[in-house]
Amino acid sequence: MQHHEAHWLFRVYAYIWDGVDWLFPPTCGGCNRAGYRWCPSCADETHPLTGPLCEICGIPLPSPGLCTACKRERPAFRALRSWSAFQGPLRNAILLMKYRFDLGLVCALTEAMLPFLNALPWPVDLVIPVPLSERRYKERGYNQAELIARSLALARGWECRPETLVRARDTLSQVGLSAKERRENVRGAFRADEAHVRGRSVLLVDDVATTGATLSACAQALLDGGATEVYALTLARALPAHIPGHPLHDFEPHSTTPIKEV
Ligand SMILES: [Zn+2]
Ligand SMILES: [Zn+2]
Repeated sequence: MQHHEAHWLFRVYAYIWDGVDWLFPPTCGGCNRAGYRWCPSCADETHPLTGPLCEICGIPLPSPGLCTACKRERPAFRALRSWSAFQGPLRNAILLMKYRFDLGLVCALTEAMLPFLNALPWPVDLVIPVPLSERRYKERGYNQAELIARSLALARGWECRPETLVRARDTLSQVGLSAKERRENVRGAFRADEAHVRGRSVLLVDDVATTGATLSACAQALLDGGATEVYALTLARALPAHIPGHPLHDFEPHSTTPIKEV
């Protein structure tokens, strides 16, 4: 595999994973095919979101501008962008990462999204993942958003400080809540450590975004802690079932749209 366009430390890391793959052949995180962490056909099926996007929250729109949700209430992040839609092999890979601690898959996905990451024009001083609740962290033993954030930061030579943002209180699962209920559920749920965020431009990282409510609540905590600006990046975006093909007038997640665990 070619490990270009990445910081040298990440290239070393990626070559180590090539060695591990040689010793212990992996299966593809998207389709279970033997011999790959992320196989060529899953790579082919995973496209960056294209066409006009909401300038702030990054959902596809019929024409450039802001979506109605962002016009009504501005999110705290300056922009949210996602590599690809939450469907097909990428959805499989993300669900797999929730219960299997798989650094090899995270590394492979980081490489696959590197051209997308490199094209984002954002100033980044610090990378911070969306934190899990302490209870869920104990159940799972790791935070998949943190694995992704660390890997992206390594690929770009950015500093990553997961401990800087914590959940100040427990929240309900966002599953099945309306966009408004989601915002209220997570409002004020996070707290940032001023000592590390003050005066810095922060890249917030998660696996999936749905309405962006959790990312916005995190961004607000970071701004309250003195961050100059916050950008948000996720591997995938859960899109309403009626995209593409219909003009999008609003973004209320469909009940079948999966599903950001909190
Ligand atoms: Zn595959
Ligand atoms: Zn928007």
